[in-house]
Amino acid sequence: MKYLGAHVSAAGGVDQAVLRAVEIGADAFALFTKNQRQWQARPLTDTVIEAFRSACHQHGFGPGQVLPHDSYLINLGHPEAEGLTKSRAAFLDEFQRCEQLGIDRLNFHPGSHLRKIDESDCLARIAESINGVLAETRGVTAVIENTAGQGSNLGWRFEQLAEIIAQVEDKSRVGVCLDTCHAFAAGYDLRTPEATTATLDEFDRVVGLAFLRGMHLNDAKSELGSRVDRHHSLGQGNIGLDAFTTLMHDPRLDDIPMILETIDPTIWTEEIAWLRAQQAA
Ligand SMILES: [Zn+2]
Ligand SMILES: [Zn+2]
Repeated sequence: MKYLGAHVSAAGGVDQAVLRAVEIGADAFALFTKNQRQWQARPLTDTVIEAFRSACHQHGFGPGQVLPHDSYLINLGHPEAEGLTKSRAAFLDEFQRCEQLGIDRLNFHPGSHLRKIDESDCLARIAESINGVLAETRGVTAVIENTAGQGSNLGWRFEQLAEIIAQVEDKSRVGVCLDTCHAFAAGYDLRTPEATTATLDEFDRVVGLAFLRGMHLNDAKSELGSRVDRHHSLGQGNIGLDAFTTLMHDPRLDDIPMILETIDPTIWTEEIAWLRAQQAA
């Protein structure tokens, strides 16, 4: 089955995110487990951890239905020692928060070379960052998100994702989150059912669908191949609704969290209901 939800706010505590997911009819959700724009965060308290775990239990969210996103400040492929060390420490903290909350995966953008090192060096640094955190934690999978390729961000070509995964030692704890807006902006067409299936086939050939641990369902304000990351509501952007109907019909995408990061939270309930209806259609 398809687990559908949105990236909900954790304002007031991570346990509040669970309730916001319930309100929009979701059976999956994404959240930040700390303020995503700050390096430092207070540790999660036992009270908040217990409240989150019991809310997930009460509302039927298993570990595979929750896909937290890490801080935007982290650059796991940072070209300079100081930035890399700081990023790796913050990444470890994000992983430990997932461990505490009983969440089995963490979604993150791979990293940027900042035009100071070459692509393969940056990809190797990202893989080393992942190896480091996996060695120090248990039970949490590192879920690399494909990017739009804006600026010097890597991970927009499926080959780059494969190159990172190839250098990760524990293949059982590395995966990918496929963002439809990012894929489209990176040049992977999704405008027809045939193009959507061809893009998934290409992902399967280069990376392997066995590594897929989540999806972000977003339409795109940006153009195909523009390398610009601008999300839109489903059916209102340049991708269009056919892609999402096709994804809902594809059994290869069962049993992973599928998360809206669309721009209008007031219609998330309708978007989720529409996606569910496509499964039956
Ligand atoms: Zn995304
Ligand atoms: Zn994005």
